[in-house]
Amino acid sequence: MSDTTFLPFTRPTIDEDTIAQVSAVLRSGWLSSGPKVLAFEAAISEYCGGRTVRAFNSGTATLEVALRLAGVGKGDEVITTPLTWVATANVILEVGATPVLVDIDPVSRNMDLGKAEAAVTPKTKAIIPVDLAGMPVNRDRLYEIAHQHKLRVVEDAAQSFGASWNGKRIGAGGDFVSFSFHANKNLTTGEGGALVLPEDADPALCERLRLQGVRRFADGGMDVDVLGGKFNLTDIAATIGLGQLKHIEEFTERRRQLARRYLTTLDAALGLGLPLADFGNGNWHMFQILLPSQVDRGQFIAEMKHKNIGVGVHYPALHLFSLYRPFGYRPGDFPHAEDVGARTVTLPLFPAMVDTDVDRVCSAVATVLRTMKK
Ligand SMILES: *Cc1c(COP(=O)(O)O)cnc(C)c1O
Repeated sequence: MSDTTFLPFTRPTIDEDTIAQVSAVLRSGWLSSGPKVLAFEAAISEYCGGRTVRAFNSGTATLEVALRLAGVGKGDEVITTPLTWVATANVILEVGATPVLVDIDPVSRNMDLGKAEAAVTPKTKAIIPVDLAGMPVNRDRLYEIAHQHKLRVVEDAAQSFGASWNGKRIGAGGDFVSFSFHANKNLTTGEGGALVLPEDADPALCERLRLQGVRRFADGGMDVDVLGGKFNLTDIAATIGLGQLKHIEEFTERRRQLARRYLTTLDAALGLGLPLADFGNGNWHMFQILLPSQVDRGQFIAEMKHKNIGVGVHYPALHLFSLYRPFGYRPGDFPHAEDVGARTVTLPLFPAMVDTDVDRVCSAVATVLRTMKK
């Protein structure tokens, strides 16, 4: 893309075949949950080593239903990270439990598992690790802690579809694993999600929690024995997902190439904080740099936009949001999350980018930072 074309920080890649398949669904007369959702669930299950999978209309709904299936509710504590999309913590409130936040490890920018273990109390019921930017939390250590303290795990793998831990795909192992297929995620259905269920979870209950708690009988009657949500995926969305799944390995590989190019091209003299260079596990959902602390982030974003480059922020530390302050959190509670949350910016990274787009971003970052320092 030339300098005069706006380069967004992300953009989905949808092929013509997918567009044709979506058109066919639109003509079929069946738009809501139907055969395409079943096919999508089967395809995601196969991708995740044959585990049980149910599709949802968001990665927030998957998290909430996972907590309900894990029996998390009033009086329970759930440990998670302050450096995530706020959905991760909101679902804990949604089920009536108490979020217990712990600081991040500044290198991986994921939850510090030592601090998570230290935060376990007799009330702790579950832990929600988040694979920020698609960099997986250490699964070996995570499940060691979960087993030792008898905690349920709901993996917020919203950003890590296509990533792996020590050669095993995220989703192919573990307790509950929650994926999001929001438009910005590595695999998208527009909006959507999928929940991988552990052996002890009841898929029929999962389906009732997904749709109004309804249980149907052969004679046309029905019963409702649990309060379910309205979380079902449409066949339109599932069809997009089926088309995306064919490309996920190639998408991930391209993201890795682009991330490598960023790491070799960005000028070291600018004093930026760089992401962990883990190419075996991470899926490079985002490429995030930390600006030098004296740099005004708002001005940086505006200057980049002036150069036709979109820059995102993922995320300010959530314990300082108004909704979370009543839990007693204050500035300084989680210094690493606050520091990263204040300095982070997400540079453009998506599979359809060409190498020269990366070069253009790197030179714009250098120019903007040099002029701002004066
Ligand atoms: C996107 C995301 C979610 C929520 O997914 P939606 O599909 O937008 O509801 C949850 N957690 C994290 C870390 C995310 O990035």
